[in-house]
Amino acid sequence: LFSGRVDFLLSAPQLKFLPDPDVPEIAFCGRSNVGKSSLLNALTGRRAIARTSVTPGRTQELNFFEVGEPTLFRLVDMPGYGFAKAPVAVVEKWRKLVRTYLRGRQVLARNLVLVDSRHGLKDVDREMMKMLDEAAVGYRVVLTKADKIKASDLAKVVAATEAEAKKHVAAYPHIHVTSSEKGMGIDELRAAVLSDAGV
Ligand code: GDP
Repeated sequence: LFSGRVDFLLSAPQLKFLPDPDVPEIAFCGRSNVGKSSLLNALTGRRAIARTSVTPGRTQELNFFEVGEPTLFRLVDMPGYGFAKAPVAVVEKWRKLVRTYLRGRQVLARNLVLVDSRHGLKDVDREMMKMLDEAAVGYRVVLTKADKIKASDLAKVVAATEAEAKKHVAAYPHIHVTSSEKGMGIDELRAAVLSDAGV
C-alpha cells in the first residue's frame, strides 16, 4: 500500500487550512531531531517525502501526506517540540495548534509519539502524552534510532518506557522499537499503522 501513491498534500500553519476530514489520519510527533522525517521516509519507502527538519519554517506546521489512489488515509507530520531555546511565544503557538488539532480532529485514528532510544521519555514527551490523554487520542510510543545504543541499554529504556506508559490509563500505548537506518521494526510498525488507519 505504502508502495503505491504517497503525495505531499499541504502544510497547515493554522487550523483553518486543514484538509477536509474525509479519510483517517495517523499523526507523528516527537522532539525535534528524534528521527521523525527518517521514520516517515522508511515507512513509505520514499527518500524525501518528509524533508529532514533543517528547514526552520516548517517546524510550526502540520504537514499532510496522502496515501493511496484514491486516498485511503493521511500521514500527518506534526511540528517537532522541545527546542532548547524556543521563545515562549513559539511554544505557546505550538501548544495551541497541537491541542486544537488533537481535540477537534474526528478522523485522527492514532498518534505515534517518537522517542529517541538513547534519551527515553522527556518532560516534553510527557506533556504530549498528557495532551493525547486529555483529547482521548490513542497512541503508540515509537523508540527511534535503536541501532545507536547497546542491546542491554535498549532493554532498560524499553522497560522504563513500558513502566511509565502503564500509568496512562486512558489508552495503554504499545511500544515499538525501531531503526530507520537499519530497517528494524519498520515492517511491524507499517502493519500497525495500516491497521490503525483501517485499511
Ligand atoms: P527529525 O528532526 O525528527 O525529522 O529527525 P531526522 O529524521 O531529520 O533525523 C535526525 C538525525 O538523526 C539525522 O541526522 C538522521 O540521519 C539521524 N537518524 C534518524 N533516524 C536514525 C536511525 O534510525 N539511526 C541512526 N543511527 N540515525 C538516525
